[in-house]
Amino acid sequence: MIKEIQLRVSLPEEEQDPDLTRRAALHLGEDVSNINGIVVLRKSIDARKKIVVFNYKIAVYINEPLPQESEYKFDYQDVSKASKVHIIGFGPAGMYAALRCMELGYKPVVYERGKDVQKRRRDIKAINQDHVVDEDSNYCFGEGGAGTYSDGKLYTRSLKRGDVRRIFENLVFHGATNEILVDAHPHIGTNKLPKIIQRIRETILQYGGEIHFETRVTDFILRNDAITSLILNDQDEVAVNKVILATGHSARDIFELLHRKKVTIEAKSFAMGVRVEHPQHIIDSIQYSCDGERSELLPAASYSLVQQIKGRGVYSFCMCPGGFIVPAATQSGEVVVNGMSPSRRNNKFANSGIVVEINADTDLKSFEKHGALAGLEFQKNLEQLSFTAGGKSQTAPAQRLTDFVDGKLSDTLNETSYQPGLHSAPLHSLLPKLIGSRLRKGFAAFGHKMHGYNTNEANIVGVESRTSSPVKIPRTETLEHPQIKNLYPCGEGGGYAGGIVSAAMDGERCAEAAVGGL
Ligand code: FAD
Repeated sequence: MIKEIQLRVSLPEEEQDPDLTRRAALHLGEDVSNINGIVVLRKSIDARKKIVVFNYKIAVYINEPLPQESEYKFDYQDVSKASKVHIIGFGPAGMYAALRCMELGYKPVVYERGKDVQKRRRDIKAINQDHVVDEDSNYCFGEGGAGTYSDGKLYTRSLKRGDVRRIFENLVFHGATNEILVDAHPHIGTNKLPKIIQRIRETILQYGGEIHFETRVTDFILRNDAITSLILNDQDEVAVNKVILATGHSARDIFELLHRKKVTIEAKSFAMGVRVEHPQHIIDSIQYSCDGERSELLPAASYSLVQQIKGRGVYSFCMCPGGFIVPAATQSGEVVVNGMSPSRRNNKFANSGIVVEINADTDLKSFEKHGALAGLEFQKNLEQLSFTAGGKSQTAPAQRLTDFVDGKLSDTLNETSYQPGLHSAPLHSLLPKLIGSRLRKGFAAFGHKMHGYNTNEANIVGVESRTSSPVKIPRTETLEHPQIKNLYPCGEGGGYAGGIVSAAMDGERCAEAAVGGL
């Protein structure tokens, strides 16, 4: 017999006795010797009250063998001689499109402008240490896309649980730990992602798929309203049948190319702001009521904040406990920040994007002349401003948090995890009012929600501008572009995903749609 139960175990109880099988036996009034094992289906932490509680959902196997296999099988077949599907971009969307193509018996041919994870690491080091940004190989571009040197949080708002589980199990199949199948807030960590991505590449190559790194798609050719060829690195032409366009939200040249070729794209609402960085012990103290020294059983604390300010949401985004702020620019002449954390989340800082909603219909009037690219131009503008304010390198403009809220330049800044360094700048007056004044009010409100949050021991760092795509590439019910047959806009760049898991799920859907017609 298998019984599903919920257990609430307080932190002191867990510290005293972490044996869940014994607790399950007690809960069910069952002799512990009848229990062959338990499977934790879900684990979450409730820190809302003074005493932290672990919530477990557990399947208890009473006189029943434990399950051995995962729910999904990933049966890849030799596709070396099969019909081809061309995929542009090898981020989560492109990778999962390729894997799905192979399951369905089609050969993925991937073009990726960046380098493989090993070579890419050197370019990432160059951004951090030498302030040199390679336009094809950086935190956003290269094998695994923006998902590789990311935080690897696997949260998604998607309600399609089955599909989410499939992606998680596939990540486990490629080397992620089983914990991601259980945790309420699953997280892989930036130190483990490259290896998993390398294994995904190896699967694709082993079964006859192709991946061409350092191959940028620079143009495409249309005949009779269908895509017929791709131009690679401005020189080679390759004939194509079905094309999945999974180039992500930082591939500005792709948006500009589509716009130039009069292919319909649309301006889309998005969000922009800054990244805030606190010492982790401050967040732990607030969330766990623990005076800075959290129990070893507790992970570095996180938070999620939202406040409506003058008709726009101001909210925390991609919160990275125990993490680092990273330089995520894709061109020289701009400063863009983002966050990541290692699997153990053991760095001494907590950082999070704090962003303001930008409404594409009402907030971009002064950029109207750029049409569908208005949001993109607005983004660029702010990233260039950040570059200038930071001293024209990857050093980022920053301010102490309460100084920002009070509208005062900071004489000195706090220590930071941001490797290229910080430069004190009056972000309160530099940011456009639309963003700056809402952020100031937002931070003040967050200080009331989390006592101790609004502190001068925190820095804000500019700018967090790549939260989501400012452009949407439309598609029909069959997932094709309405004007161009056989072109499947996919993932975050098209406006169909907002993170690793949703991008991967969209990749799978696009693969299914693309091969449907073959
Ligand atoms: P991308 O990952 O952007 O991949 C697009 C790929 O296309 C890139 O590899 C690029 O090089 C390639 N490309 C672009 N143009 C061309 C071209 N012309 N020719 C050939 N190739 C091209 N999300 C989460 O869910 N959890 C997190 O914790 C998280 N943390 C993040 C931390 C950082 C530092 C960053 C930068 C992002 C983070 N994200 C996180 C966001 C997440 O990485 C993206 O949502 C996700 O990667 C989007 O997937 P995608 O495949 O649609 O696009």
